[in-house]
Amino acid sequence: MTADPPPPGPAVPGPATPAGSRPVSAPRDILGLLPPAAGGPAFDAHRPPPAELVADCVHCGFCLPTCPTYVLWGEEMDSPRGRIHLMRQGLEGEPLTESMVGHFDACLGCMACVTACPSGVRYDTLIENTRQQVERRHDRPARERALRAAIFALFPYPKRLRMLRGPLRAYQASGLRRLVARTGLLPRLAPTLATLESLAPRLTRAPKPPERVPAYGPRRAVVGMLTGCVQSAFFPGVNAATARVLAAEGCEVVINPGRQGCCGALSVHNGREAEAQAFARNLIDAFADTGIDYFVVNAAGCGSSLKDYGELLRDDPRYASRAAAFAARVRDLSEILVELGPVARRHPLPVSVAYHDACHLGHAQGVRTQPRELLRAIPELELREIADPELCCGSAGVWNVLNPEPAARLGERKARDVLGTGAQLLVTANPGCLMQIAAAIPRLGGSTEPRPAGSGGIALAHTAQVLDASIRRLSVDRLLS
Ligand code: SF4
Ligand code: SF4
Repeated sequence: MTADPPPPGPAVPGPATPAGSRPVSAPRDILGLLPPAAGGPAFDAHRPPPAELVADCVHCGFCLPTCPTYVLWGEEMDSPRGRIHLMRQGLEGEPLTESMVGHFDACLGCMACVTACPSGVRYDTLIENTRQQVERRHDRPARERALRAAIFALFPYPKRLRMLRGPLRAYQASGLRRLVARTGLLPRLAPTLATLESLAPRLTRAPKPPERVPAYGPRRAVVGMLTGCVQSAFFPGVNAATARVLAAEGCEVVINPGRQGCCGALSVHNGREAEAQAFARNLIDAFADTGIDYFVVNAAGCGSSLKDYGELLRDDPRYASRAAAFAARVRDLSEILVELGPVARRHPLPVSVAYHDACHLGHAQGVRTQPRELLRAIPELELREIADPELCCGSAGVWNVLNPEPAARLGERKARDVLGTGAQLLVTANPGCLMQIAAAIPRLGGSTEPRPAGSGGIALAHTAQVLDASIRRLSVDRLLS
């Protein structure tokens, strides 16, 4: 038996962009003919999506216009309300069909629906639990299994990612990249590889981070710092800037680079519970007995999952209380800087900045005012807002690798809004967003290379790099190049 569809909510805008193809992993099951992916009911007894949270949804539809998949395809089952309806079906004993899995997989986990929902529906908990069930109970096609296995054997391992730096730098320096782009063949022959290739930032030198960075002047706090996987391999300059800013603001920074690894964010956001728990335990151990007051994160996706360690390890008798205590110390870089208050002098930076709210900072952590407050405090910096700020850029962890075509369209939509500000510099606090928007800008005829203002060019930087430039009195040209 199939449960009734949700009652119609108020009229909501339809797709804001022409409907395109849905991801390959999300086949439509209009006639209900696709077979169940696994026998028996959709969910087992280990952390199913809680029925009481499902029941909180009153089907009002206020979340629909903020949902990127609904905006793309205009289909009810690709909206938060539709997915919650499918969860209810699963709780009522319906099997986990290919179609259901496709709709759950297509969710970016951007959490725009959580902030938009007037009834306070905890869609974050619902989709996280649902994804774990899908990963445990659904047999994916062999090709998709292989792709996911490759992704999760690479991305959460900073050392493996760093091994890619050499070949990637050689590829970028050889001019082969331009040649490959000119042929236009790669996206047609290997879309996933083409996506990875287009996302890779231009690599610079990556010196090994120190064990500790002393506070400049009187010490106000001891903070641990996450170096991250993608951040440490592809954006080492962001980590270096983060450590310098913290030190300038009176923090002793404990980095411990040999001991820390992945925080587990990518795993937890993709339903890989056991793997995420193992990464979390390792990180907690790496910073045990270091005497840190706070643990600072400069990547939005990592910060939101670190703040949830208590929940992730709640059933582990050895780690439950340590995980909760660790999570309570986690701060985004902008949060800790505002909390402590500035002591380092800000020097003028005459530049116009468009600030992009990374979903896992704005929606998942509610951190919106702090980065803006820090940027506005820089003399001569002009802050501009981007249209439709709540809408995801399409990066969403590895969603853009698994779903290259719709991710590219979301990226272009965001890039268009970014370029529409006419700002010289795009600033955000997540490596995934930086790569995603940087890859989309040239497809619109824009450039991330230095260009005169107003000529379709925009440089990109992390919040930490802007603060660092202001504190160290660097010229604006250094930021824009
Ligand atoms: S998390 Fe994002 S993509 Fe998923 S249902 Fe909510 S708004 Fe849509
Ligand atoms: S999730 Fe919230 S906003 Fe969306 S339909 Fe349900 S109650 Fe309404």
